[in-house]
Amino acid sequence: DHLSNKIAAGEVVERPASVVKELVENSIDAGATWISVELVEAGLQRIRITDNGSGMEEDDCERAFYRHATSKIKDENDLFHVKTLGFRGEALASIAAVSRMSMQTSTGESAGTKMELEGGKFIEKSKSDARQGTDIIVDELFFNTPARLKYMKTIHTELGHITDVLNRMALAHPEVKFTLTHNEKQIFHTNGRGDLRQVVAKIYGMNVARKLVPIEAQTRDFKVTGYVAKPEVYRASKHYMSTIINGRYIRNIPLNKAILEGYHTLLPIGKSPIVVLNVEMDPILVDVNVHPSKLEVRFSKEKELYDAVQGAIRQVFRQETL
Ligand code: ADP
Ligand code: MG
Repeated sequence: DHLSNKIAAGEVVERPASVVKELVENSIDAGATWISVELVEAGLQRIRITDNGSGMEEDDCERAFYRHATSKIKDENDLFHVKTLGFRGEALASIAAVSRMSMQTSTGESAGTKMELEGGKFIEKSKSDARQGTDIIVDELFFNTPARLKYMKTIHTELGHITDVLNRMALAHPEVKFTLTHNEKQIFHTNGRGDLRQVVAKIYGMNVARKLVPIEAQTRDFKVTGYVAKPEVYRASKHYMSTIINGRYIRNIPLNKAILEGYHTLLPIGKSPIVVLNVEMDPILVDVNVHPSKLEVRFSKEKELYDAVQGAIRQVFRQETL
């Protein structure tokens, strides 16, 4: 119902960047190889996401707006083997509840479906063209929740949060071509060719990309890959340590600590390195159902993981100094 959707929206949709994150995750889950994000006024006016993913059949398109109507989890067992970025089935319902939303989608086989909603209420359904993929427009976010709208920061701040989201998505998915446009001006893009170093160059600049050392380690349970920057290119904030578990950008304080310990005494005190670390593991070893934002996770073999990461980084710099 409308009220519970609005309440859920409070948890899932904090600001325009949360909308972008959820919709881009859906596009990735749908197998998209290009995703375009167009913003007007840092997304407060309009957020448009277009992808070339699987698209949806008419029935699925309608169902997608009902809360917990996810196509990704079929039984309790699936919840312990989450392989998709989404699994809670509440993003579309929540976003629709606090905006004017329109979705156009097609599997590419026949005419597509277009749905329009306002504050979570269905307004209109019609046929659309058959381009395979999905095109979602979110207008006037929080138009019906004035209290939330009041807490939006400046265009500059909101845009910064969205850029952050896109950067992380691009780091986690170099094989996807992203473009980000603000008020008709392109502000970020990747080429989707799968080269992580190129994505790092786009985000942090060539000077950083030149200082990257590849990392690769395999233990019984974990495969660690990615890049660690040489200690001389350090930063004052931990913000530059990106950790990606099974394609999902996550935040985990002990994991950051393991990275820092991997650098050992090589960094000045209080400084942090630039790192993009991918860890692949059996999904059963990571619990992603900790918080609605899915940014926090819990590991069942914590110590082994932290040791693997720390060891992999030490190994890199031991070789480097030879
Ligand atoms: P979840 O991602 O947790 O399943 P969402 O509310 O984000 O829940 O999405 C609901 C459902 O809508 C998804 O399970 C998926 O089947 C469908 N869907 C959403 N976005 C897309 C998209 N861009 N392409 C194809 N299907 C989508
Ligand atoms: Mg989702």
